[in-house]
Amino acid sequence: MNSIVAVVGRPNVGKSTLFNRMIKRREAIVDSASGVTRDRHYGKSDWNGREFTLIDTGGYVIGSDDVFEKEIDKQVELAIDEADVIIFVVDVITGITPMDEDVSKLLRKINKPVVLCVNKVDSNKNRTDALEFYNLGLGEYYSISATSGSGTGELLDAVVEKLPERELEEEEDLPKFAVVGRPNAGKSSFINALIGEDRYIVTDIPGTTRDSIDTRYTRFGFDFKLVDTAGIRRKAKVKEDLEFYSVMRSVRAIENSDVCLIVMDASRGFDSQVQSIFWLAEKNRKGIVILVNKWDLVKKETNTMKDFEAKVREEISPFVDVPIVFISVLNKQRIYKAIETAVEVYKNRSTKIKTRVLNDILLPIIAANPPPALKGKYVKIKYITQLPTPQPQFAFFCNLPQYVKDSYKRFIENKLRQEFNFNGVPVSIYMRKK
Ligand code: GDP
Ligand code: GDP
Repeated sequence: MNSIVAVVGRPNVGKSTLFNRMIKRREAIVDSASGVTRDRHYGKSDWNGREFTLIDTGGYVIGSDDVFEKEIDKQVELAIDEADVIIFVVDVITGITPMDEDVSKLLRKINKPVVLCVNKVDSNKNRTDALEFYNLGLGEYYSISATSGSGTGELLDAVVEKLPERELEEEEDLPKFAVVGRPNAGKSSFINALIGEDRYIVTDIPGTTRDSIDTRYTRFGFDFKLVDTAGIRRKAKVKEDLEFYSVMRSVRAIENSDVCLIVMDASRGFDSQVQSIFWLAEKNRKGIVILVNKWDLVKKETNTMKDFEAKVREEISPFVDVPIVFISVLNKQRIYKAIETAVEVYKNRSTKIKTRVLNDILLPIIAANPPPALKGKYVKIKYITQLPTPQPQFAFFCNLPQYVKDSYKRFIENKLRQEFNFNGVPVSIYMRKK
């Protein structure tokens, strides 16, 4: 289970600068290549062999202090609810502000580890100024300069040391499904329709990192776990309209799942919030099923469903090979179809293709359509193998991996999808030096 670290603090203290320094560089490159800029405030980091997810909770703030003031509780609340460790960033140049004091007050009350980070300590003069931050009552602090990187190593040491112990992977090999989507899409109704009245819940397995509960569901030949439904039940709190918050609320459930059932409200369409959730699942290489809920509310004409589907596919391009199921939780329409589809996607995600089969099928296709020559150099792909990861990843061994463009990788991905069933499953393609 991945640990989550949240960065909190008022605007302009240097949260984004620190965040960018802490996330994996490889990841930043991947993002810029695919043009996905949506997750500038969400990323993976690792230090001393511990991987964790980093959230910059100030993600949405445009920068003015008045906007922030109203939102401060929400920001800190998000961190308190969702994170395992909180990095609280303050600014040595401005010194302690009333807002810093407010945040400290909130953070002192909780029993989650907080790491106080005094930023913009660019010189020795600043170093003594930093002493005033003891007054926040949060104990020891770490002086850093996010722009130069000085002090960030010690900060990361402290963060990693406070992460919860890694849990042993559970023995059971049950599929884990997360039901995610924006508030009011019908997630709770969907889950209740599945388990509510009949109580076919077999076990409640308490998570050890917080109060999350994975619910095991066995009925009609299905056997899977609904992950983090506790978060959904606690929904009184999750009425956030701000996109950033409600998307970040689904991070843990998405990360701990195999397949994400993304519930959307047909009457609202595939809006930017659903899109963010979709890309979060995709980025985490999870299986995806889109459930278009409240289909009962839509006035239907001849091609309504087809047209709707086409519009959604346009939004999720280029990853369009995703099942879309039209449901009405209210009318109990296609609820089981939704679960069946999730099970299929789970199977597709677990597909293992023998090296021989892969090469027999793909090498002739590649020979007929080789990567275009670049600067007079020819790329020769020698062989292909699937990596032993939970999700499909393929390594293409070749002489000049750096010369293979994304467009060619997409071509290969499309061929893979034509030949094998990866419906609903992100596929990773790596060029490796032979
Ligand atoms: P955020 O609003 O908290 O995310 O803050 P940003 O990361 O956007 O930084 C706000 C401003 O502070 C930018 O102009 C940064 O260049 C500057 N800044 C960030 N870290 C440092 C630092 O370590 N030293 C100095 N002098 N400036 C910094
Ligand atoms: P959540 O916030 O995603 O958990 O959404 P809820 O399950 O609380 O549902 C939000 C609202 O949508 C409630 O008033 C539900 O009764 C309603 N709702 C859920 N599913 C359907 C549906 O299929 N059709 C219609 N018309 N309303 C629905």
